[in-house]
Amino acid sequence: MNSIDKLAELFQKFPGIGKRQARRFVYFLLHKDNIYIQKLINEIANIKKEINQCKECYRFYPENGKSLCPICIQDTGIKQLMIVEKDADLENVHKTNLYEGKYFVLGGFIASHDKKKSYARTEQLLDKIKRDIENKELDEVIFGLSISPEAEHTRMRLYNMIHENYPDLIFSTLGRGLSSGTELEYSDIETLKYALESRITQNKKQNI
Ligand SMILES: [Zn+2]
Repeated sequence: MNSIDKLAELFQKFPGIGKRQARRFVYFLLHKDNIYIQKLINEIANIKKEINQCKECYRFYPENGKSLCPICIQDTGIKQLMIVEKDADLENVHKTNLYEGKYFVLGGFIASHDKKKSYARTEQLLDKIKRDIENKELDEVIFGLSISPEAEHTRMRLYNMIHENYPDLIFSTLGRGLSSGTELEYSDIETLKYALESRITQNKKQNI
C-alpha cells in the first residue's frame, strides 16, 4: 500500500466520509505547501493534550486543570438534565441561553438492530442519573434529540430504562417546532426556544 492509499484509509474512518472523498482529501493535501501540512500535524497532535472530556456530561472542552467542564462545575440549582446526541447539539442549545440545566452527551444512538454497533453511552447516562438523584439534583429529564427514527428509538429505549427505576422523574421531549429530520445542531434560536417552551411531558410506559 502506498502513502496515498494509507492516508486515504485513515480519512475514510471519519464520519460520513467515503472512499472517493477520502482520496480527494489526500490530493488536497498534496497540493498544499509544507507550512499548512505542519500546522495540521501540530493541531492534530495537540488536540488530545489540550482538550478534555468532562467526567459528568462527556462533552469535550479546553483543558482547565479540572476534571469537569464549565457547565457541570456551575451550581445553578436547576434540577434538569438534557440528553443530547453530540457536542455540536449541546453547543447550539447552550448558546441560546434559554436553558440553564445540565446536559449529557450521548455520543450516538442506540442501534435498532442488535447486530449494529451502538455508540450511545447508555451505562454512563444511567450512572449519572443515579448519582444526580442520590444527590437530589435531578427532577426532570429532557430528551433533546433530533427528529429521526434512530433518535426516536433511542428516546423510547432510554425512557423505558430510566422510568422503570425512577418513576417519579418528569420526562419531557423537545418536539414541537422541530420538524421531521431536523438536526438540533442546525436549529435556529427561535425554533429551539419554541421547542423548549412547548416540550411535551410524558410519564407512561411506551411500547417499542
Ligand atoms: Zn460537563
